[in-house]
Amino acid sequence: YAAKEAGDLVAVFRPGLQQSVPSRLSLLAELRGATQRGELEVHYQPQVAVVGGAPRGMEALVRWRHPQRGLLPPAEFLPLAERTAVMRSVTSAVLEQVLGQLAVWQQAGLAVPVAVNVSLHDLADPAFAGRVRDGLRDHGVPPDLLTLEITEEALVGDPGRALATLDACRATGVELSLDDFGTGHSSLLRLKRLPVSEVKIDRSFVRSLDEAPDGPDAAIVRSVVELTRGLGLRCVAEGVETRRALAVLRRIGCDVAQGFLVARPLPSGEATEWLRGALARGSRPGEDRAGRS
Ligand code: C2E
Ligand code: MG
Ligand code: MG
Ligand code: MG
Repeated sequence: YAAKEAGDLVAVFRPGLQQSVPSRLSLLAELRGATQRGELEVHYQPQVAVVGGAPRGMEALVRWRHPQRGLLPPAEFLPLAERTAVMRSVTSAVLEQVLGQLAVWQQAGLAVPVAVNVSLHDLADPAFAGRVRDGLRDHGVPPDLLTLEITEEALVGDPGRALATLDACRATGVELSLDDFGTGHSSLLRLKRLPVSEVKIDRSFVRSLDEAPDGPDAAIVRSVVELTRGLGLRCVAEGVETRRALAVLRRIGCDVAQGFLVARPLPSGEATEWLRGALARGSRPGEDRAGRS
């Protein structure tokens, strides 16, 4: 009785910070329905060559168009979903939207590779790679237009199973990218063995590049770039917010930049406009379209 009262007080005084168990459960149940009602909305954040600025790809980032609460960022519902199998429905919904978008962009001559974030639940699912392959086929999208972003956290549960899924995904022709590098249990042995073609340096290391271009974060970024180079992988910096940070990345030799300096994650229509503009600019004679990778 007393505990329940205390719980209610917490709910009253700290709305949002401390969601009650019933409200978390109902949000999960709602999310399950939302994936079927089409309330999940994919936004696209551009990635550009550090040298020349040509478009290199887009990252698909999910949002929930909640009928009462408005547009919810992933932080409001993914951490909850990630603990359950609902996460698989989220990935399926995102993948389906992305493949549809890729087919449209392809027809319009605007196709660039799109990266989809996948979770631990997807890598544990023996049917996942088959679903990716079928989705590509159904939408008529070439596999090299799809990238799957994985994190090191997604590998810890059952690394054998996860690696088998990744190999099966690679066999369909999609590319793999290692996300948030440096934040998890980064292992050089794992990096060497993973069938990834790209490493994304986490925003936490990129953030201070402009204020401390010779600081410890810059040293970390420099060695990750060298490491990925040495392994023949592409390197993407996320969270690039300033021109100075971009200049540091150029000096260091990072291949691709993603961040608010280039563009925020954009809804489908705006992403299409961005691509149209960027590809038109890039095709002007005298512009360096190739970048460095
Ligand atoms: P992430 O995969 O590392 O995605 C990058 C996040 O950094 C995005 O946040 C993006 O909006 C944000 N970001 C990019 N550039 C900047 C910048 O210059 N400054 C700042 N302050 N932030 C920047 P978002 O969209 O809120 O997504 C957060 C995380 O949620 C993602 O991190 C990813 O782990 C997860 N996520 C998003 N969509 C999906 C999805 O469809 N499936 C799965 N499994 N996870 C997803
Ligand atoms: Mg990502
Ligand atoms: Mg990331
Ligand atoms: Mg990150």
